[in-house]
Amino acid sequence: MSESIRYITAADYDEAVLKGGTVVLDFYSTECPPCEALAAKYEPLSEIYGKNIKFMKIFRQENRELAVKLGVLSSPTLLFYKNGERVGEQLSGGIKRSEIVKNLEILLPENRKAELRSSVVLKDSSCDVLVLGAGPAGLATAIYTAQAKLKTIVIDKELPGGQVKVTHLVSNYPGFSEPIEGYMLMHHMSEQAKAAGAEFRVAVDVTDIDLLRKKVVIDGVETIHAKKIIVATGSSPKHLGVKGEREYKGQGISYCATCDGKFYEGKDIIVVGGGNSAIEESLFLTKFANSVTIVHQFQKLQANKTAQQKAFANPKIKFIYEHEPREFVKEGTSVRKVIAEDLKTKQLKTLECDGVFIFAGMKPNLEEIGSLFDLDQWGYIKTDALSHTNIKDVFAVGDVATKHCRQITTAVSDGTVAAVTISKELDE
Ligand SMILES: Cc1cc2nc3c(=O)[nH]c(=O)nc-3n(C[C@H](O)[C@H](O)[C@H](O)COP(=O)(O)OP(=O)(O)OC[C@H]3O[C@@H](n4cnc5c(N)ncnc54)[C@H](O)[C@@H]3O)c2cc1C
Repeated sequence: MSESIRYITAADYDEAVLKGGTVVLDFYSTECPPCEALAAKYEPLSEIYGKNIKFMKIFRQENRELAVKLGVLSSPTLLFYKNGERVGEQLSGGIKRSEIVKNLEILLPENRKAELRSSVVLKDSSCDVLVLGAGPAGLATAIYTAQAKLKTIVIDKELPGGQVKVTHLVSNYPGFSEPIEGYMLMHHMSEQAKAAGAEFRVAVDVTDIDLLRKKVVIDGVETIHAKKIIVATGSSPKHLGVKGEREYKGQGISYCATCDGKFYEGKDIIVVGGGNSAIEESLFLTKFANSVTIVHQFQKLQANKTAQQKAFANPKIKFIYEHEPREFVKEGTSVRKVIAEDLKTKQLKTLECDGVFIFAGMKPNLEEIGSLFDLDQWGYIKTDALSHTNIKDVFAVGDVATKHCRQITTAVSDGTVAAVTISKELDE
């Protein structure tokens, strides 16, 4: 624990924080993985900035009244103060080092910023296995390699869990007779990887990836050298490329029902898509919405028959076939109109709504990884049966790799095969 950090309670708040000059205050909780991820950044930063800024921590569970008064509703949350006034942003969740530094610098005199930045000591680490991506594929790999006593480091731009952490319920992962919340399933997987000895660097900026030299730089301060690299970066929702989509993302355009469904209580929603995700997520959205209208480009849905039957039987769900959105129009705080083209008549129609969810398929997360891989026609990484890629000692597992079926089970299967292969190769 860093000596530059002071632990306070609500009773100390006025004296220590409001009269404390320049202060950063961390509301933390116990048994809180995002708080652990923050602590790994907060402590080293307190060593660098601690002479100019007071670093404090307060245990949220025992100081709830103060937390609520300050608008702190989750752990961890960071607040920044200058002479008793709140300044900068209120940061919470998967907080990145770069976000903390940006807000700390608001508290510093101009001449100290560059000086402190240049005082950062760069770190070099090494490991046997570096896993890029902490979704099911990356975590399964890490569980196996760490249990095989290989030094394993898992890196993720976000908190661990991948797409599953924002999936409401998972009913098809073996071992659970009742559906399990996606975030809980992933919590168990990441705790299992940690218990096996895997180290985590999460909610980080991946500043450089050099697959040929097997090194990855995170947050611009740590260079990690590895014998083997596993790319487990998964996939992300595809954008339609329609006018208004990018501009109104988060303001009426959403790609995640679990994250945003709750904001549409009693509202009328349009869902774009007709595959499994579109139908499953539409069913979930009916828990909140007054109505869900599915706009699909084809004559029939593409989802599996069971999901289709459930959707047809749900009185809140309506269907508009053979239409494609051409524009999203925002009015007030949300998107209220979808201009859709009838693909048969080519006529444009205006559909009224309170918000839009888009489920138009997925694309591999390869932007930062570079173009050295052999890819299939859809842009996914080609591998052999053991998950080797065309780059020596670099493996690809889970949704980012070519496959017929993208599920949690297939992701963890890839991770298992790659990990066992790596163990054998490193033994040899
Ligand atoms: C809405 C929805 C519902 C689903 N429901 C189910 C279900 O019920 N059952 C089921 O079996 N499957 C379901 N799936 C599919 C399942 O979520 C995926 O198959 C699975 O998550 C793939 O795991 P993964 O580890 O390959 O990738 P992901 O889960 O996508 O994880 C990839 C991780 O890599 C990280 N990352 C990305 N780029 C970088 C980078 N450059 N550097 C570092 N980290 C990076 C991401 O932040 C992420 O954490 C669902 C998918 C969706 C979209």
